[in-house]
Amino acid sequence: MSARGPDSQLAARFLDSPNRGERRGNRRPNCLILHYTGMPTGEAALRTLTDPGSEVSAHYLVWEDGAVDQLVAERDRAWHAGKAVWKGESDLNSASIGIEIVNPGHDGGSPPFPDRQIEATIALARDIGARWGIAPERVLAHSDIAPARKRDPGEAFPWKALWRGGVGHWTEPAPLDGGSLFAHEEESPPVRALQAMLALYGYGQEITGVYDRQTRQVVAAFQRHFRPERIDGEADASTVATLKALLDALGLR
Ligand SMILES: [Zn+2]
Repeated sequence: MSARGPDSQLAARFLDSPNRGERRGNRRPNCLILHYTGMPTGEAALRTLTDPGSEVSAHYLVWEDGAVDQLVAERDRAWHAGKAVWKGESDLNSASIGIEIVNPGHDGGSPPFPDRQIEATIALARDIGARWGIAPERVLAHSDIAPARKRDPGEAFPWKALWRGGVGHWTEPAPLDGGSLFAHEEESPPVRALQAMLALYGYGQEITGVYDRQTRQVVAAFQRHFRPERIDGEADASTVATLKALLDALGLR
């Protein structure tokens, strides 16, 4: 048995999941990926995350009451991201630390995340971020890195509260104002410009110049994280203004 203890003093238990490997290419974690468990109970999620047959895991599990368990050592590669891309990196498992947050998610009616759970997530993210030097704009949703497949941690997740707690990148979203600027399958230079901005922020957005399905998926992922009032994959003026403000804040535009 492993004699390892948790890497974070905030973790109560180290429950050594077998679902792990070595980080490839000696990568250090440079981003933090947040998930909801998407299962009816935390106990069910913990079983899955430690079951060798499931081939999934995360470094940490944050319970509804704020208790934290560590399942994989931070130096090891946990298996939470799947097929994903951010800023051109496609082996996100080798480049990240993953936190699973107990919540049944969309399929469970998107219940709110309890305050104690969010406070614990903030404390844990700050601790990990400080030890590894993770930039605020690299605290990401699973949906950010896999917009075609994933919705977690979902639009009910309080990114603004995290930002107030010193975690993540955020700007107050521009107010809702009108519908989509583009028709579906429209091909135009402004569509290309929008796609370029999404890719510049980090999304795995292909620059096709067409307001196609993958663009709607990326826009929906952006909305879940940064403009949660309406998640429809339509690039309205509020969505575009919010994206520009985030890029400006990073000096990327
Ligand atoms: Zn996930």
